Amino acid sequence: MKQAMFTALQIVTLLVIATLGHLMALFWYLADKNRWKICERTIYDLPISEEQIRREMKNSLHTPMHAVILAVFLYLGFFRNTSLASFICSGLATAIWAEIWHYGSHRAFHLRALHWIHLEHHKSRLNSPFTAISFSFTEKLIFDIGLLAPLAAVDGLFGLNAFGIAAWYVGYLVINSFSHANFEMKSGDYNRWLGKVLTSTTYHSLHHSRYSGHYGLGTRILDRIFNTEWDDYESLYRRISHEKRPLGKLRERASASSV
Ligand SMILES: [Zn+2]
Ligand SMILES: [Zn+2]
Repeated sequence: MKQAMFTALQIVTLLVIATLGHLMALFWYLADKNRWKICERTIYDLPISEEQIRREMKNSLHTPMHAVILAVFLYLGFFRNTSLASFICSGLATAIWAEIWHYGSHRAFHLRALHWIHLEHHKSRLNSPFTAISFSFTEKLIFDIGLLAPLAAVDGLFGLNAFGIAAWYVGYLVINSFSHANFEMKSGDYNRWLGKVLTSTTYHSLHHSRYSGHYGLGTRILDRIFNTEWDDYESLYRRISHEKRPLGKLRERASASSV
């Protein structure tokens, strides 16, 4: 009997990856509209225009391409190891490479010659429930191919597992959606421990409002190494999360900053 192109579980997983960004956007839209408790610590107390929401929703039409590009790699025969060890190692390898690739490509997109690729995402100076799925087609194409092609090369040496990579995509779509909410959800003392390494919603909000610095995806590690972190981040975080005092201007600062 001829083998099916994809297993049922692979199809379900790809469908989850194709739609999760929109489901998360819907969640944040409802949370904001109904003023759920998780939205009480506003980051920027500024209005978001209808025009921005319309533009972001239009851009989001090609968000399912994450699933399409992963499906192409699976169709070509990559990532077929089925062991548990490979599942765990594939998830970890994807997370580490994604952090490096995202930081490097993101900084490159901020260079004048390449900024057209990233411009659409940055038209949103203030994050809305839909900003996390608002990218140009080219940006997501480059991100996904740059993420998966090196992993496909590694797959030739150490068999990688498709579900380990898919698990990273699921985590990315959820966390990236949180990172673009206009509310801080983490505790007031987050930056004393976990927050020294991991980013927060406030962290990425400053990238949008100030247009530079904070290029990291899920961690602060590379921003610290390459000195691209705003030095008033932690005091602004404290103000928003602990004192519950939102920022009133996009360029507002807690102190002189170095980026
Ligand atoms: Zn950027
Ligand atoms: Zn962003």
